[in-house]
Amino acid sequence: MKNKIYLSLLSVFFLTGCNSQAPIPEESNPEQNNEETEEQVTDDQAEDTETDEEITDENEENEENEEEITYQYKINPNTFSVEPIDEENSDEDEKLVLLTFDDAPYGNTMEIAEALEEKNVKALFFINGMYMEDEEGFETIQKVHDMGFEIGNHTHTHAKLDDYSQDDQLDEIVKTNDIIEEAIGERPRFFRAPHGIMTDYTKQVIEDENMTWMNWSFGYDWESEYQDSAALTDITLNTELLSDGSNILMHDREWTAEAVPEIVDGLIEQGFTIVDPKLIQNGTE
Ligand SMILES: [Zn+2]
Repeated sequence: MKNKIYLSLLSVFFLTGCNSQAPIPEESNPEQNNEETEEQVTDDQAEDTETDEEITDENEENEENEEEITYQYKINPNTFSVEPIDEENSDEDEKLVLLTFDDAPYGNTMEIAEALEEKNVKALFFINGMYMEDEEGFETIQKVHDMGFEIGNHTHTHAKLDDYSQDDQLDEIVKTNDIIEEAIGERPRFFRAPHGIMTDYTKQVIEDENMTWMNWSFGYDWESEYQDSAALTDITLNTELLSDGSNILMHDREWTAEAVPEIVDGLIEQGFTIVDPKLIQNGTE
């Protein structure tokens, strides 16, 4: 019974999630593609130097080495909840929650990241590549990544993927991976489809690109009655949907940025552990 309610709610979210049609930023700057070729070369070299790692410990800070991370969590492929990998040895009383921010960088990403940093918690920002085509957006994502936040793919133009040809679906996804890699030196590990709409072909592309896809558990900040920080904080902390493993969907919006400090405080007060996305394994890893 519970499952049924959950599923029907989920389908409502599918229809309404990310509905706000964000306008495209004024003009994009197409000059940023020049450095791509160099990166590919250094990528290959990175693989070869792996064995030297133990000796060159001091360089660790400069090399981002994902292999050193011991993943503790995974995304449930059916509910999109965040769960411990090792259920048996995990703390049964621990309640997990994941914070995600879609449609970034739309102008509030830095404020959100700074608010989270102040509270010493991490989150996952899902990027629309089109917002990284201007310098400000591009640099914002570089900074947010440097602050330790996870960057995910949310398509290039916030595409409703089932309206697109296979070629265009591929383009929507790969183009954003390319621009993210150009900015932060690595391809994203996670994908979230606008409106939660995945096609079979999209799923195949996601797998080919070594990403894990996720929708979400609940979210409110696109609904007109919750486009207010107090109302958003209240519903997020008091909704019956908030439970162990909740994957909370928010957006790069002003009222959301304002609500972040209180939402984080409230979650911690309720005993939730806010999961660092870096500790979530990509399903293909
Ligand atoms: Zn969206």
